[in-house]
Amino acid sequence: MPLLVMKFGGTSVADLARIENAAKKVQAEVARGYDVIVIVSAMSGETNRLVGYVEGTSKLYDAREYDAVVASGENVTAGLMALRLQEMGIPARSWQGWQVPINTTSAHGSARFIDIPRANIDAKFAEGFKVAVVAGFQGLSAEGRVTTLGRGGSDTTAVAFAAAFGAERCDIYTDVDGVYTTDPRISSKARKLDKIAFEEMLELASLGAKVLQTRSVELAMRYKVRLRVLSSFEDTDENSGTLVCDEDEIMESKVVSGVAYSRDEAKMTLVTVEDRPGVASAIFGPLADAGVNVDMIVQNISEKNYGNHSGAVTDMTFSVPTNQVARAQKAMEDARAAGLINYDELIADTDVAKVSVVGIGMRSQVGVAARMFKALAAENINIKVIATSEIKISVLIDRRYMELAVQALHDSFELDKA
Ligand code: ADP
Ligand code: ASP
Ligand code: MG
Repeated sequence: MPLLVMKFGGTSVADLARIENAAKKVQAEVARGYDVIVIVSAMSGETNRLVGYVEGTSKLYDAREYDAVVASGENVTAGLMALRLQEMGIPARSWQGWQVPINTTSAHGSARFIDIPRANIDAKFAEGFKVAVVAGFQGLSAEGRVTTLGRGGSDTTAVAFAAAFGAERCDIYTDVDGVYTTDPRISSKARKLDKIAFEEMLELASLGAKVLQTRSVELAMRYKVRLRVLSSFEDTDENSGTLVCDEDEIMESKVVSGVAYSRDEAKMTLVTVEDRPGVASAIFGPLADAGVNVDMIVQNISEKNYGNHSGAVTDMTFSVPTNQVARAQKAMEDARAAGLINYDELIADTDVAKVSVVGIGMRSQVGVAARMFKALAAENINIKVIATSEIKISVLIDRRYMELAVQALHDSFELDKA
C-alpha cells in the first residue's frame, strides 16, 4: 500500500469540529487508496497552558516531569482523532510515543530521534488498520522516560515518520495555505510560494519563520522526504500548498526568496574588555560551557577607550536567545570572578529583533547587503549588529521597527512580484 504522513497542527485540531474537519481530509486520502500515518499536535493553546502549570509549580523544574506534563496534550488529540475516524467507519487507533516506540535521546525538552522501529505499526496495517494516529512532539528515552522534542516538534515527528516508513509525501496541514515570502500576519503583501528549496526553508525556519520546525526541514533534506505545507481549512488537492524540495526542481529563482524575523533575540555588550589575543576565547568558552547559544558577534573598538585602562580595550557585542540572558550574565560574572576576563559593564538589551533576508541566489549575486541596508536606511532604521552567511543576511534592530523593516525589505526585494 502507498503510504502518506499527514500532520495537523494545533489550530487544525483546536476543537471537536476541527478534528472532524481534519479527519475528513484523512478519509479522502484513505479513499484514494493510501494507508495513512496521522501526526497530531495538542489542541491550540494547550501546550502553553501545560507549560504554565509546570512553571507555576516549580521554578527550577525537573525536566523529566516537565516532559511528562507537556507531552500529555498530544495524547488527548491522538485519542480523539482515532475515535473520530472510527466513527467514520475507518479502522484506526492511536499511538503514544512509548507505544511505537519512538526512541529518542534523553535531552528532555529538546530530545532527538534515535530510531522509530516500524514493526508494531506495520503489524496493525497488516491486520487491516488504515490509519495510525501518532501523538506528535514526544518520544521515549533509553531510561524509559517520556521526552519532548522542543516547541513546534510535531513537524519533526511527521518528517521522521515519513522517512522511517518511506511515505510518498509528508503533508503538514496548518492555518496558512503554504510557505509565504514572509509571515502573512506581518505583511499583507506576502506571496505564497509554490516551491521552496530545502536550504532556504532551513534558513527561514532557523531565523524565526515558525511555519516549520527547523529540525523537521533538516530531516526532510537529509532523508529526501517530499515535504508539503498546506491549509487544513481549505479544499486541497495534490497541487495545493508549498512543496519544500531540492533547488534544481525550482525554475523561478530570485536573489532573495523570503524575509524572516525573530523577537526571541537579545543583544549583550561587554563594555571595555582587553584587546589582546585569547579574549574572545575567554568570553565565548564559558558561554558555550554554560549552554548559551550565541548567534551574532561583533567586536568593536570601545567608545569608552579612555580612563584607567592601561592597554587597548574593545567592546564585545553578541546576541543570545532572550531566555538565556540570565544564564549568559552569570557565565560572564563567574568568568570575571575567576580572573578569566575583565570588563566594566555587561549591558543586556532585550528590546531588539532580528530581521533576515534569505535566498540561494545570493551565492552568485553581489550587492544584496547594500540593497538591504539602503532599504533600512530609507526608513531611518538603525542597524545594531549584522551577520551574514552564504545565503542569508541578518540584522539586529530596535524591536519597535521590526514590522516596518520586514515590510520595507519585502518591498525592496520585490517579493510581492512573481
Ligand atoms: P501549527 O500549529 O499548525 O504548527 P504554527 O503556528 O506553528 O502552526 O505555524 C504556522 C504559522 O507560521 C502561520 O500562522 C504564520 O503566522 C507563521 N509564519 C511565519 N512565517 C511564515 C511564512 N514565511 N510563511 C507562512 N507562515 C509563516
Ligand atoms: N504542541 C507542541 C507545541 O505547541 C508541539 C507542536 O505543536 O508542534 O509546541
Ligand atoms: Mg507549528
